[in-house]
Amino acid sequence: MQKQDASSHGFLPSFQHFATQAIHAGQEPEQWNSQAMVPPISLSTTFKQGAPGQHSGFDYSRSGNPTRNCLEKAVAALDGAKHSLAFASGLAATVTITHLLKAGDHIICMDDVYGGTNRYFRKVAGEFGLKISFVDCSQTKLLEAAITPETKLVWVETPTNPCLKMIDIETCAHTVHKHGDIILVVDNTFMSAYFQRPLALGADICMYSATKYMNGHSDVVMGLVSVNSEDLHSRLRFLQNSLGAVPSPVDCYLCNRGLKTLHIRMEKHFKNGMAVAQFLESNPRVEKVIYPGLTSHPQHELAKRQCTGCPGMISFYIKGTLQHAETFLKNLKLFVLAESLGGYESLAELPAVMTHASVPKNDRDILGISDTLIRLSVGLEDEKDLLEDLEQALKAAHPSSGNHN
Ligand SMILES: *Cc1c(COP(=O)(O)O)cnc(C)c1O
Repeated sequence: MQKQDASSHGFLPSFQHFATQAIHAGQEPEQWNSQAMVPPISLSTTFKQGAPGQHSGFDYSRSGNPTRNCLEKAVAALDGAKHSLAFASGLAATVTITHLLKAGDHIICMDDVYGGTNRYFRKVAGEFGLKISFVDCSQTKLLEAAITPETKLVWVETPTNPCLKMIDIETCAHTVHKHGDIILVVDNTFMSAYFQRPLALGADICMYSATKYMNGHSDVVMGLVSVNSEDLHSRLRFLQNSLGAVPSPVDCYLCNRGLKTLHIRMEKHFKNGMAVAQFLESNPRVEKVIYPGLTSHPQHELAKRQCTGCPGMISFYIKGTLQHAETFLKNLKLFVLAESLGGYESLAELPAVMTHASVPKNDRDILGISDTLIRLSVGLEDEKDLLEDLEQALKAAHPSSGNHN
């Protein structure tokens, strides 16, 4: 184990050899005739066979692609997993995982999940004969009470979006596996492989929208799935080919490149995120800040026990009304008003009106997604510039509150 330094804020030490694997795993030049250091973008859809049915590991690009292989090997190494699979989007990964089930099976999904996951389970999978329950899986009793003999999949996200509720993965895995052959999936999009390893904590599947932190450059839509079980791997590999929701070799190349700096980016997201969270928490124009890195977060201890750090995702309630929130957002100069997250650039959004508008108002109220809840994805810019931007926009929203110092 590495020694902890002050910048770790009491979180677990980084996973051993992470940076080395981010640079080298799956990238061996010896795999190419050219000995290329950087994986070539292999656009060919088909591959020559020596004799009918005898190929060199590749026959058709949906079934297997050399560039995709490099990416999948790198992701497996970073997740501490035996196998990884890449998909055309995070949702394509979700759909493929759900095809492990059959009509009549029951899914338990965390009540506070990515809107698209909620929509897919409710409006698509539900139509194909799967039964879905939305449950607050952070409460073991509620989770346990929801499990039936038909339950085959439990889907959680930690931290949740946008309320950043944390789930104890180890406890959740223990509860789920006590009740038989149920697959526990953790959507690890917010933490990335650098801050959290769900498989080591007992999850069966770790999935990502690589569109966010894993690629990190806001230029690729992709999904990733990691597993240790050989059985799950062969079934998912079969489904990857049978359903065909595979990513393009160009996107695989870009995401593979993005992973080279994942550890550096996440450290900086953590540093900037912490600075922004502390700044907001001490600002009189702010009602409340939600950030697992702050001691004020109700599950701060769990976060420190389960993760090696915190990403740049911060939610906060601005004092006042919807109008104050809108004025704040309109006055931001550096933070861009946009959906999505996890890129190098700082973004801000209003979940009740933007990312979570499709969640019914009553459910939003229960989850705490009010008109004054603002979500930030803190990027990699200079800390001082980010704080100055937030300060001037808060002042524009609340001109009469005086200087907070
Ligand atoms: C964006 C996102 C998804 C969906 O991924 P896409 O790549 O957009 O299909 C799933 N889960 C979480 C937590 C996300 O943020």
